[in-house]
Amino acid sequence: MIIRKSPAEIDSIAASGAILVRTLHLLERQIRPGVTTAELDAAAERYIRSQGGVPTFKGYRGFPGSICASPNSMIVHGIPGPYALERGDVISLDVGVTLDGWVSDAARTFAVGSVGVLAQSLLDATERSLMAAVEQCIVGNRLGDVSHAVQASAEADGLSIVRTLVGHGVGRNMHEDPQIPNFGDPGTGPRLEEGMVLAIEPMTTAGGPSVRVGTDGWSIYSQDGSLTAHFEFTVAITADGPRVLTPWHRPDGEEPALGNIRGRARVG
Ligand code: MG
Repeated sequence: MIIRKSPAEIDSIAASGAILVRTLHLLERQIRPGVTTAELDAAAERYIRSQGGVPTFKGYRGFPGSICASPNSMIVHGIPGPYALERGDVISLDVGVTLDGWVSDAARTFAVGSVGVLAQSLLDATERSLMAAVEQCIVGNRLGDVSHAVQASAEADGLSIVRTLVGHGVGRNMHEDPQIPNFGDPGTGPRLEEGMVLAIEPMTTAGGPSVRVGTDGWSIYSQDGSLTAHFEFTVAITADGPRVLTPWHRPDGEEPALGNIRGRARVG
């Protein structure tokens, strides 16, 4: 069952999302060669708690970190630790924040210094596929429209979609119905209704779609060792269109990075 949220409840998730976005900005400013993922984790936890929030991931099914930090061929669920970022890496940072019992969930993949053209295009294309999905978060559309939008956009850019990992509903719990695959057929699946809140999260590789689980039992890598990317927003379906509850702002200014949905989607 997909739990619909009232406008006031969506505002509560947006308040959680605001802390989350500030956390990601803080982390972005700390990304440089030599910084360990444990240091990023500690900074995130400190900041989230300073804002009255709780890092949702910490202790979730025994996960030891406050964030997931997944470099290069690691797609998701990286346990923060001694790994030190290197120039040319890409690093996926996934953050969950619980505030007053409401969860928001978002992720971005960052470049460490300047990265190669292929890595940068992987990041850009994966973010674009997320934007394409957000654009489909309209009352009356179907979930398959969202899934298909990710797939069509990412595959048009030559990326592979990881099919064994999916997005999800979010609210009082981090993982609610529905599951949101990053592939699918338009016009299929449940109808999107006002008050649904979705964590949409394209996970892509520059190589093949197969994955393997790391020896720690958490981290998930591309099977072929290819570079990977992960972008995620928490989005509410509202009568006024999609409302991104974890809006990303470019470091240099005010403009949310919402590409072609700007003007149609409400931000924040
Ligand atoms: Mg998620």
